[in-house]
Amino acid sequence: MIIEDLEGYLNLARKKGVLEEEEFEGLKYYRFSDDLRKYLRGTVVIGDKVVFGYHKIARILSLENGILSHIKEPFYVEEKADGYNVRVVSVDGKIVAFTRGGFICPFTTDRLPDLGDFETFFRNHPDMVIAGEVVGPGNPYNEFSPAGIEDIAFFAFDIFPLGSWRSLSAEERYAILEKYDIPQVQSFGKFFPETKEIERLKDILKSLNEKGAEGIVIKPQYGRRKFKYVTPFINISDIKYSSHLIAELPAEFFTQRIIRMMLSMDELKVVREENELKEIAQRLGEAFIEGFSKALKDYKSKGKVTWTFSLRMRTRERIELLVNHLNRASKIVKVSLVSVDKEDSYWRVVLEKHFLKSTDFMASALRGSFYFD
Ligand code: ATP
Repeated sequence: MIIEDLEGYLNLARKKGVLEEEEFEGLKYYRFSDDLRKYLRGTVVIGDKVVFGYHKIARILSLENGILSHIKEPFYVEEKADGYNVRVVSVDGKIVAFTRGGFICPFTTDRLPDLGDFETFFRNHPDMVIAGEVVGPGNPYNEFSPAGIEDIAFFAFDIFPLGSWRSLSAEERYAILEKYDIPQVQSFGKFFPETKEIERLKDILKSLNEKGAEGIVIKPQYGRRKFKYVTPFINISDIKYSSHLIAELPAEFFTQRIIRMMLSMDELKVVREENELKEIAQRLGEAFIEGFSKALKDYKSKGKVTWTFSLRMRTRERIELLVNHLNRASKIVKVSLVSVDKEDSYWRVVLEKHFLKSTDFMASALRGSFYFD
């Protein structure tokens, strides 16, 4: 699909310093490293094809009032899968997965054949993009992963044409994707913006909360703005899996999560008795303390704050591409290869992330540096 004035946008992006030239296994492409009008950060240009960056989703902190004030039409509700966002595309006969930032992810691209039958889909829809979440413990990005998945899984949550940022409606997507062996996020069906229906939604959220799920995404039938609302306890998990980096993350990361948790606990009436609140307070306290205490222990024994994890890959050559990709994606995390072993038809890869900022903080604090606050 040819986009009007694509050259003009590329030149402007170049001038503003937000256009990066990338290459993956001979496939050359441009990546927008920041928003430039409709070309959101993560937009990719390959030849005359444009894969638009995935848009932000508005957050609501009050479920009922959020829905009643912003939605005047039927809406679909889906589970918010908790992993990392990829856009899957077929280019020049190769099926690849782009990260939110617009890099081809060597890991996800390598594992796509395990995640769904993308070949058949793209044979019939070569000009479409499938956006989805990769979830599970065997991934190179997230320490937290929801229960019930052993390795990794893919859940599609959006389809849009190349050269367009307009997604198909949830209804249209369900109809198309159900013809293929490509998993989709769980849909809870169609709702109407009425108090009675929202009560039903609150029950769904309570059970998502109990099973440790992240929350929901609300998709109006005709409108384009989507909304996200998260379960209370996922905030404790987020804190638990991030508090080893408490010295480097912005304080808002933590305060926002406490606010979200308190508001959703109140609206969903999660706490009925005093002792339940005490138990939650204890879990929250532990979530803060355990992470930092692990980081401190780590630093004292190894001289660095790290996370060691393992994943499986199909292609040996892509392991190095993954390490390089992870090192390019962040300047404050250094990734190194610990081991590679053959495991059936896969490579079992163990990697270590070394968190440079937290390590520097520990070093400075423990050698007795002073500062004014
Ligand atoms: P944002 O996308 O709003 O910039 P973010 O990058 O911090 O925020 P989240 O707060 O996790 O991401 O929420 C949005 C993301 O949720 C989407 O980008 C997508 O990757 C993911 N997601 C999971 N399930 C769904 C779903 N059913 N529909 C849409 N997005 C979903």
